[in-house]
Amino acid sequence: MVVYFNDEFKLLSEVILSPFDRGFLFADGVYESIRTYNKKLFTYEEHLKRLKRSLKEIRIGFDDLNTLENIIYELIQKNNIKDEALIYLQITRGKAFPRTHSFPKEKAKPTLFISVKEFKEDSDEQSRGVKVILQEDIRWLRCDIKSTSLLPVVLANQKATEEGAEEAILVRDGLITEGTHTNFFAVRDETVFTAPSSRLILNGITREIVLGFCKKFKIDFREEFINKDDLKNFSEFFITSTTKEITPVTTIDYWTINDGEPGKITKSLQSVFKKITEDY
Ligand code: PMP
Repeated sequence: MVVYFNDEFKLLSEVILSPFDRGFLFADGVYESIRTYNKKLFTYEEHLKRLKRSLKEIRIGFDDLNTLENIIYELIQKNNIKDEALIYLQITRGKAFPRTHSFPKEKAKPTLFISVKEFKEDSDEQSRGVKVILQEDIRWLRCDIKSTSLLPVVLANQKATEEGAEEAILVRDGLITEGTHTNFFAVRDETVFTAPSSRLILNGITREIVLGFCKKFKIDFREEFINKDDLKNFSEFFITSTTKEITPVTTIDYWTINDGEPGKITKSLQSVFKKITEDY
C-alpha cells in the first residue's frame, strides 16, 4: 500500500512515525474521511473547509492545504484503485521532545498522513436498515471539531458491535446528539428533526446535504434536540455520513420501528441522494 506521509508518497512499510508525535501521545490532531463517486472526490470543498476550521480551532498552522486534492488523486492512482475510493486524511501537531502538554516551544512541523482504500457502500444496509443502541454521550464539549481524540466513541461503538448493532446513538442530559460517526435524524408528522449544528455535534456534510434536500423539496425540518423519552412519538429514523450515506434505522435498542420497514420520507431522501451521486 502506498500512503502519503509528510511530503512524500511512501510504501506503508517505509513510514517511520516518531513516538513523540503529538498525535500518538495526545491525539493532538484532526482528520477527514472523503469518498469518490464516479472516481471524483465528492463534496471536496466542504471537507477542506471543515478541515481548515478544525485546524484553526485547535491552532495547528498548516500551509499546504491547496495541494492536497492533487496528492489524493495521485495516491488513488498509485494504489491502483479500480472503483471508488475512501480517503483518510489526518494532520497532527507534529513531533516534539520533551513531551509537554502545552504546545512545543519551538513550533513543530505538523505531520500529514493520507491513506486510500477501495470503497463500496453497503447497499443491503441501506435498503434493509440497521439497529442502533443508545449510549451516554461522554465526549468533550467541542464535538464540532473533527479531532482524532475518539476514545469515547470507540467505546460506545464497541458496545454497539457487541450488541449486534451498527451504531450507537449518543444521549447527553437526556437529549440525542448524534451517532458515534453519523448524524441522527427522526421524522414526526412529515417533519424531519435533527440536532442543531452546535458544539455538541459534528456538522456532517451529509447532514447538510439532507437539510438542503428538505429545503429544495419543501419537506418541513427542524434543527432541534430530541429528548430520548420522546423517541416513541417519531415514526422514522435514519443516520447519515460520508460512508453510510442515508441509512434507515429500523431498531433502537429493543424497539423495532414500523415492523422493521424503512420510512417513507427516509426512502425518498435516499432516492434523491442516489440520483445526485449517480450523476456526480
Ligand atoms: N458525526 C460524527 C461524530 C462523525 O464522526 C461523522 C463522520 N465524519 C459524522 C457525524 C458525519 O459526517 P459526514 O456526513 O461529514 O461524514
